[in-house]
Amino acid sequence: MLISKFKSIFMLLIDFASPRRCEVCGVYLGESERQHEFICEECFNKFPLPIPSELVLERIDKYYHGEKLIANAYSLFPASEKSDIMDLIYSLKYRGFSRIGKELGFELGKLIKNNSDKNYDYIVPVPIHHARLRERGFNQSELISNGIAKALNIPTGFKIIKRARYTQTQTQLSARERKKNVEDVFVPKNVQINLSGKNILLVDDVFTTGSTLYHCAKCLKEMGASQIETATLVFVGA
Ligand SMILES: [Zn+2]
Repeated sequence: MLISKFKSIFMLLIDFASPRRCEVCGVYLGESERQHEFICEECFNKFPLPIPSELVLERIDKYYHGEKLIANAYSLFPASEKSDIMDLIYSLKYRGFSRIGKELGFELGKLIKNNSDKNYDYIVPVPIHHARLRERGFNQSELISNGIAKALNIPTGFKIIKRARYTQTQTQLSARERKKNVEDVFVPKNVQINLSGKNILLVDDVFTTGSTLYHCAKCLKEMGASQIETATLVFVGA
C-alpha cells in the first residue's frame, strides 16, 4: 500500500514537473500557443468528430433490448481499440497523467453544453473499487467529471453509488462476460440517499458495450432518479 501511495505521488510529480509534450506526436508544447496541457492543436484537430447520441443509445439497446434506462448519451470521440485516443486513455489510467482526464472532461462538458439545455442535479462518476483506487491513486471517471462540471458550472464530488465488489477489468472480456462481470456490482453508497425527481449525468471514460453504464443507471433508477444521461470520452468501435 505504501509503495502504491509512493508511486501515485511520484506520478503526480512527473505530471507537474515534466516539460509538456504532446502525448500523441511527442512535440514540445510551447507556453504561449498552448491550447491544451497534453496535446498539440494539430493532433487534437485530427481527432474524429463527436458521434450522435442515437448511435450510443443503439449500442445499449443491442445488449439490453427494450430497457430504456438511459435517456441520452454523449460521447466525445469515436475510436478503435488501437488508436491515438485510446493511447491517451491508457496514459490517463495507467500512467497517472491525470490532467488528460480533466481536460478531455472539459471538452466533453462543452459538447454537452452545446447540445443540451438540461439542468443536471448530480454528476455521478462510475465508481472504482476502493482496492483499485488505492492501487491507482485516483478514479479516472472522477477526473473527467470534474472537467465536465467545470464546463457546465455545476457542483460535483457527491458520493452516490459505490462498487460492492472488486471486478476484473473489462478489457479482455467478451460482451456476454462483460454483462455478467458487472451484474449487481453497483449499490447505493448510503441507503438514505433519495434521488427522486433528480436528473443525473453518469460519467465513464470508455463506452464499449455499455454494460457498466447500464448497471450504474439501473442502481440510480432504483434509488429514484428521474432521468439519467451518460457521458463518455470514447466510444469504441463506431
Ligand atoms: Zn501532437
